[in-house]
Amino acid sequence: MATWNDVAAVLFPDVTRTPEDYETMYPPRDLAEGARVTRVAPSPTGYLHLGVFYSALIDRLTADASKGLFYFRLEDTDKKREVEGGADDILASLNRFGLPIDEGFVAPGKVTGDYGSYVQSERVEIYHTYVKWLVENERAYPCFCKPEENAKTREQQEARKLRTGYYGAFAPCRNLSADEALQKLQAGEPYVVRLRSDGDEERRVKFDDMIKGHIEMPENDEDFVLLKSDGVPTYHFAHAVDDHLMRTTHVIRGDEWLSSVPKHLQLFRLLNFKAPKYAHISPIMVEEDGHKRKLSKRKDPQAAMHFYAEQGYPAASVLEYLMTIASSEFEQWRKANPTADRRTFPFNIKKMSVSGALFDLNKMNDVSKNVIAVMSADDVTAAVLAWAEEYDKDFFALLDRDRELAKNIFAIDRDKPKPRKDMAKWSDAPEYTAFFFDETYVPTTELPESVSPADAKAILAAYAADYKEVSDQSEWFERVKAICAPLGFCPDVKEYKQNPDAYKGHVGDVSTVLRLAVTGRRNTPDLCRIMELLGTDRVLARLADTANAL
Ligand code: GLU
Repeated sequence: MATWNDVAAVLFPDVTRTPEDYETMYPPRDLAEGARVTRVAPSPTGYLHLGVFYSALIDRLTADASKGLFYFRLEDTDKKREVEGGADDILASLNRFGLPIDEGFVAPGKVTGDYGSYVQSERVEIYHTYVKWLVENERAYPCFCKPEENAKTREQQEARKLRTGYYGAFAPCRNLSADEALQKLQAGEPYVVRLRSDGDEERRVKFDDMIKGHIEMPENDEDFVLLKSDGVPTYHFAHAVDDHLMRTTHVIRGDEWLSSVPKHLQLFRLLNFKAPKYAHISPIMVEEDGHKRKLSKRKDPQAAMHFYAEQGYPAASVLEYLMTIASSEFEQWRKANPTADRRTFPFNIKKMSVSGALFDLNKMNDVSKNVIAVMSADDVTAAVLAWAEEYDKDFFALLDRDRELAKNIFAIDRDKPKPRKDMAKWSDAPEYTAFFFDETYVPTTELPESVSPADAKAILAAYAADYKEVSDQSEWFERVKAICAPLGFCPDVKEYKQNPDAYKGHVGDVSTVLRLAVTGRRNTPDLCRIMELLGTDRVLARLADTANAL
């Protein structure tokens, strides 16, 4: 009579190690008491979803709050979804947006750590070792049911309004003897390997999710698949083996996995593993026509981290904004600590909202404007150049022609107590800086409502006649004031308001005429500095050209 050991030996002829060997190879980590080990475990789809990035941020914060460790594992068991270079792309996005990884894949092409391989497709021998052990211990068995048979069972279950799935009386291969299983294997019948569930639908599993709180669900009685017909593990099985052997203490993931926790706890128990703590994050939501819905990869460009790279959002902005949706206490904290490093915020995963965080791009832009407003001119210039080099070659060429000028442009008004908030992202820079370059300056004949073309011409001519490049803002303003009175404009706004009928307008109108002529805009940063950076020739040319066009 054959035994289950015989079946296991035929199923896994190449397995030479035992679970104990792996326990020795991957011992508990040597970390301080209470240190939390977290991980991000994406599939190599070449696309980092904001939701995955968000959970990676929570992983990072959770590890940091306990002097723990955050690692990266590649879940590449679904070859259909795999994209060439997809893992590198995801890593590049994580790196770019400022989430350092301590172990596993830390950067494209760079792997560190003693708990590898960090690629699931390279861990098949490990999975097989554990499945072999389960088969030997009659906790798993090969199942030879064909997909058509399973589909038929499902139809019957649906017709009888029963729970669908491979369980109890609907799990025929569960009852095969070792001899029968062996015969089928020897006849070359294809198979999957299933768990021999010891669960009972009538009993309940209880656990505490760090975000969702206390949860009770029916035990799992389904003989779910551990290894697919090609020998590759299912997510459930790989999760248990990997997170155990890599010594993950906290599994933080999307709440689409919450309903699978009974299966996972069962696996951890049957494999004699200590179960990790779970934290299930609700999906990020967006509002559309007054309704909330999940952020969708298909409908929302902002679901992909590529979007933030292309738009040129600084990593600090993305992280700062995500902090505001990760913790309702963050904004308050930020107000009290305006210049503190975001990482010193006392983050507590248990305080995360149970319902999905709402993502609002306008709010993100506001947050980003504040972040950019307090950056140094050097940092802004470097970041804009790096962004432009990748995403806007023409703009890059303009800036690169004179990097000193570029820096001077981004420095305008930056040291003021209330810095301007013109840019939310680097892709706003070409528009913001357009009038500094003849190639992108757009002249206008627009005038303030109260100023006639003839008066505007007179203003432009008078200012040009006595033009002098100055650095001092008050001196510059005095020179503008000086042309007012002879042209019938009041050099003082207050005075004008007391007696408006006595004037054609005031100094504000005069400077607006100049601003429109020199920049093509009504609203710009410090015009004195702009003129200085443009240089006398260019300023005079624009004054003359505008006057001619009026
Ligand atoms: N590869 C899994 C996914 O993309 C990871 C889930 C987890 O973090 O365990 O859904």
